[in-house]
Amino acid sequence: MKIDIITLFPAMFDGPLRESMLGRALRAGLLNVRLWNPRGFSRDKHRTVDDKPYGGGTGMVMRIEPLALCLDSILADSHDGKPCILVTSPQGRVLDDTWVRELAASDHLVIVCGHYEGIDERLHVLYDTIEYSIGDYVLTGGELPAMVLIDAVSRFIPGVLGDPASALQDCFSDGLLKYPQYTRPETFRGTCVPEVLLSGHHERIRQWRRKEALRRTLQRRPDLLNKAHLGDEDQRLLDELRKEMENGPQAR
Ligand code: SAM
Repeated sequence: MKIDIITLFPAMFDGPLRESMLGRALRAGLLNVRLWNPRGFSRDKHRTVDDKPYGGGTGMVMRIEPLALCLDSILADSHDGKPCILVTSPQGRVLDDTWVRELAASDHLVIVCGHYEGIDERLHVLYDTIEYSIGDYVLTGGELPAMVLIDAVSRFIPGVLGDPASALQDCFSDGLLKYPQYTRPETFRGTCVPEVLLSGHHERIRQWRRKEALRRTLQRRPDLLNKAHLGDEDQRLLDELRKEMENGPQAR
């Protein structure tokens, strides 16, 4: 997958793109990330990239011209069809697992990182853009949201994860949160690993995990249950869980 990032602060990507899974994916050629600084496309003497907002008000707005020239360069160089142009914005569609999977199927993404008070609105008139948010809070710039998107999307690119099955077993993949996990030692400061996980009984482990995934989802994100694909076993387990929860907080 090719990803072009338009950012005023390319150095912010140094660490995330060098370390861990993303670093490996880049070195293996599974991801091709290019960083573009719109400052290099500014044509005025001081290479300005921002200006005061028309109508007055606080802060600065990212100028359209350097962004447009930068995008034109990327599009002119794009020989693999029309890329998806994503613009970071707290006002955009909130990124979720379903959308991340859709984006992971693209060949080419362009991410425009906003800064200051935001971007001149004409960017969205001149280009076919999609604004995305990583949550209902405001950050100082779009670089972290860009890194979040790249990280989330790359997990679905074949070869990026050591074990491709793990992305399919993570939270949200079946519409539920994930069951609790344990590793050695069996006992630590008086707390034990649930007995069933030591039993070696695959079917009992599967059922326990399913029930705990449902318990977590019911307790923490009941909204997800409306959209999850639940079978008869799940409905039965949910009934059990609801009864357990009625009978006391800790009936695990
Ligand atoms: N004045 C803007 C508003 O109220 O919508 C906020 C601008 S914010 C300080 C600067 C930039 O950070 C935004 O243009 C956007 O690119 C990025 N940003 C901030 N919060 C974000 C979020 N939750 N998701 C995605 N991008 C965000």
